Parts: sequence; C-alpha cells; structure tokens
Amino acid sequence: MTSTTDEIARLKKVHNAIILAHTYQPGEIQDIADFVGDSYGLSVQAAAADAEVIIFCGVLFMAETAAILNPDKKVILPVPEAGCPMADMISAGELVELKRKYPGYTVLCYVNSPAEVKAESDICCTSSNALTIAGKLPENKGIIFVPDKHLGSHVHEQTGRPVVLWEGFCPTHARITPAMVLAAKKNHPRACTMIHPEAPKASRDLCDKIFSTGQMCDFVKEGPHTEFIIGTEIGILHTLNHRTPQKKYYPMSDQITCPNMRRGTLETTLRALKRESGLLVNVSGDIADKARGSLTRMLEMSR
Ligand code: SF4
Repeated sequence: MTSTTDEIARLKKVHNAIILAHTYQPGEIQDIADFVGDSYGLSVQAAAADAEVIIFCGVLFMAETAAILNPDKKVILPVPEAGCPMADMISAGELVELKRKYPGYTVLCYVNSPAEVKAESDICCTSSNALTIAGKLPENKGIIFVPDKHLGSHVHEQTGRPVVLWEGFCPTHARITPAMVLAAKKNHPRACTMIHPEAPKASRDLCDKIFSTGQMCDFVKEGPHTEFIIGTEIGILHTLNHRTPQKKYYPMSDQITCPNMRRGTLETTLRALKRESGLLVNVSGDIADKARGSLTRMLEMSR
C-alpha cells in the first residue's frame, strides 16, 4: 500500500508542484516540504519558483504573497480557513484614513496583512528585514507601521525613527508574558533566551536576543551557546532540532501555538495536490499590481 508521503511525492512530480511550509507548521508537513522557512524566506522561494503549482502550507496572507509574486502559477492553500487574526485587524479603508491623518509619512507594511493593505502601502517588510528596510527609508519622513504594534515598536526602539503604530497584534505571541520569560529563564539558567519581535516589549526586554524565526535558525548554528529558550510558536522547535540537532531547545511555554498554523495535516496536503480541496488563491488586477510593487521594493531593499 502506498503511504501518504509516497503519494504526495508522486503527485508533486505529476503536477510539477512544490510544497512551501512555514516553520510554524506541524513537523509532519515540514518533513515533506521542498522548502521550510519564515515569511521572508518563503517570499524569496515563491518569487524564484519554476514549478507550475505551489502548495502553500501556511496561512492565507502567505499564500496571497506567493500568488502576487507568481501571477502565472497556481498557488493552493490546503486549508482555506487558515487565516491570520493579526492580518484581519486592519482593512485598506482604515489604512487610507491613517494616511490622511499623517500625510507625507512612508507606509511600512508587515507582510502579515491582506493584499489590499499591501496595495495601499509604500513598501512591505518581514520580521527578518524590518530594521534593515526602516533604516533605509527617507530620514526626513515619519513611518506609519501596520498592522503589528509590537514589531512596529521594536522598529522604533532599534532605529530611533518616529513611528505611528496601528493597534494590531498576534494573539499567539501576545501570550508571552514577562512571568513566562522569567520562569523559563529560572528553569534553564544557562540557556540563551530568544524571542520574536511580535511579542510585547515587556517580555522582549527580558530576553537576550530579539529575532525572527529565520534569524533564530541561523543564530543557533553559530556562537558558543548550546542551549536556547525559544520565544515563538513551538513549531519552530521541529525545524531547529532537524537543522541543528546538536544543540538543546526549550519552548518558552507549550502554550505558544498558533491554531491556524496547526490546521494542516499530511491528508490536507495530499487532498490539495489531488485538487479535491484547498483554496486556489487568486489576487488580480490593480490590487495585485500595487501589492507586487510593495513586495518587490521589499525584496530589492533587503539585499
Ligand atoms: S503566529 Fe500570529 S502572526 Fe503568525 S499566523 Fe499565527 S496569528 Fe498570525
């Protein structure tokens, strides 16, 4: 009998498909993906993909980004209901209002946002490149940062740039409290503490490093530390254990999970490949063109 993973491998060849998976996806999905990465890495892979079909194991805004960057490909989100609550905390209309209130400001938009909001923005960023890009924006202009108030405040703290924040946040990372950080540090006193910039400032301030997931994966390979406390979605522990198994990783808490990232299974991935289910993500017209402009500027400026 053919196993699900064998069938996925066979169908990938039949349909000339690749599977992209975020580091927050369940381990079984990461294990069958052609590329596992953070939003930035996945954007780069999506832009370079020469397969006809991209099976995007993540949430809607990520699949939308892949579709915008690859208008000629079929981009399929295996679980159509997998959205991102933070992305849904802002609409294009609300951003237009904000721009009216702060004329002349540059709009820097976290990729965790709907295509319509990217289209109303000057440039996008991910948590990996937000500081680099903010540092390259015109110095005589303020920045409107949407939708994540925590990443936006991190940009303000690290670059000193004036930043207007939107009240969006990630419900998963917002659960990381200072008490949780202190408890983890007490349990693992020798470990280097890393936290994602989507976490609140009071928790970030207690940690050794503020890193995107991609930066965490790179950092553990280098340097003298052998143990790490990981302050982000626990799916990344699978990635870290797979890529750098000689080091030790402790979750900040087992509670740091994103329900939307955990909806997918091998079965949903297989059914998406068979085209029995899944959402064919399509962003077209003016919205796609403008959003592509914001994303392309990000890719160019982060080099
Ligand atoms: S971890 Fe947070 S930002 Fe990422 S998809 Fe889940 S809710 Fe959205």
